[in-house]
Amino acid sequence: MTDWEKCVEFHGHACGGLTIGYQAVRYARSLLGLTRSPDEQVVCIAENDACGVDAIQVILGCSVGKGNLILRVMGKQAFSFYERASGRSVRLVLRRAPEGMTKEESFRYYQEHEPEELFDVKPAVLPVPERARIYRTLTCEGCGESVGEAWVRLRDGKCLCLACAGSGSES
Ligand SMILES: [Zn+2]
Ligand SMILES: [Zn+2]
Repeated sequence: MTDWEKCVEFHGHACGGLTIGYQAVRYARSLLGLTRSPDEQVVCIAENDACGVDAIQVILGCSVGKGNLILRVMGKQAFSFYERASGRSVRLVLRRAPEGMTKEESFRYYQEHEPEELFDVKPAVLPVPERARIYRTLTCEGCGESVGEAWVRLRDGKCLCLACAGSGSES
């Protein structure tokens, strides 16, 4: 099975969005010299949570649970890749595609272009997050549920979770 076939199987359909992620991985691999080694420490920050993210999970093995796939949803087709060992990184930003393409045309457009034609290469600006930290668990005084202390807010002398603190007060 090719990488692309694996992506389609995981994602459930072949689409332009998946192709964007697939092409971003191809480009990042060649720019950063990534191999297929499974223990390679690659971190990806995706600035969207669209179809393309699935290709990054499948090919690079990045995942939200492992902490090496971070979704900073900002509505941009931009992906930053970091290789921990070498400290090298790159941010790939999708260029604007021609307007008015149908779904099929856009799928073909992303399939038929080389990654160098699709993305601008920029320096990665977002810092690589530390590995998952262990937070103390507190009990919210509003709902009584357990909550990691980093997500607790003090409101009128009470320790509240974000859901309880959010009701009617600014952060
Ligand atoms: Zn899709
Ligand atoms: Zn609460």
